[in-house]
Amino acid sequence: MPTIAFLGTGLMGAPMAVHLLKAGHKVLCFNRTKAKTQAVVEAGGIACDSPSEAAREADIIITMVTDGPDVEQVLFGINGALGSAPPGTFVIDMSTISPALTRDMALRAQERGFRYLDAPVTGGQIGAQNATLSIMVGGEQSLFEEARLILETMSAKITYCGPIGSGQSVKLCNQICGAMNLLGVCEALTLGRKMGIDPNAIVEVISAGAGSSWAMQNLAPKINAGDFTPGFMIDTQQKDMRLVAQAAEETQTALPGAMLATQLWRSAQAHGCGEEGIQAMAKVLFQMAELSSTSPSEATSEPKTP
Ligand code: NAP
Repeated sequence: MPTIAFLGTGLMGAPMAVHLLKAGHKVLCFNRTKAKTQAVVEAGGIACDSPSEAAREADIIITMVTDGPDVEQVLFGINGALGSAPPGTFVIDMSTISPALTRDMALRAQERGFRYLDAPVTGGQIGAQNATLSIMVGGEQSLFEEARLILETMSAKITYCGPIGSGQSVKLCNQICGAMNLLGVCEALTLGRKMGIDPNAIVEVISAGAGSSWAMQNLAPKINAGDFTPGFMIDTQQKDMRLVAQAAEETQTALPGAMLATQLWRSAQAHGCGEEGIQAMAKVLFQMAELSSTSPSEATSEPKTP
């Protein structure tokens, strides 16, 4: 079984690393804030003090950090993983970052004898916990075939998307859909509450019909329960929306819906909700509709609008 260096054990990385351990891999992990390696250590992983230490005996390096410069830092920076890893080591970046920076880093890694794939994921923290992520992969197809077994440990669906950076490009398209679906959920819950409808009924009905989405099934119940703890932080999502905006700029593509969602999350950030879950977009819509409460029991007692 290949030994894995897992860099970044945050909301997503920790449960993903635990699945690799359960599958029988030796996992050496690194996280900037060491306390966040606890779940991985409890599952049998070894916490290291630097990416370099984690990668020394690894066959595969997996990165699951925030943004492109963070991937660059843990791979190429001082005490970075590529400083100690033997040439030939497989690098799989599963973070969501810029396709252009991905191509650049892959080239630099390849020049030093490393093999590189981009493999961002979708499915949320719950997908990471249940090993049901959908993974989109960019890079040489033969490398993709080689990595498939490892990726299957964390996922329900793996798709080869094309040359290096293609996984990241598909991920940006995914983020548009995720944002728009969540906006639909927030608007439906807002209007429903204004009409005096039990928001739990809205979720139950729509989840089983044509208006359903991952956001309706997973985030709407949280909104109704007034639960805004993060599975995916607004601040991290806004990093993705910045990448979407950059890609739109580079390709002269108008994306009015994605930009609207970005502005709503920006308002949530301005109100101090940046570290809450993306479902806190609902708070912005509720405020615009002069709905103060977020719990269904209170919502049903709100006055109906004519
Ligand atoms: P997170 O909980 O913030 O985890 C990111 C981890 O990266 C943190 O543990 C952080 O360390 C570490 N990190 C960031 N910058 C670093 C640096 N420069 N050097 C070393 N470590 C660094 O975020 P997450 O939700 O797990 O997201 C991780 C990646 O997955 C992101 O690219 C995100 O867009 C993507 N993603 C997330 C979801 C989701 O639902 N959460 C779904 C799909 C994809 P500290 O603990 O010290 O801050």
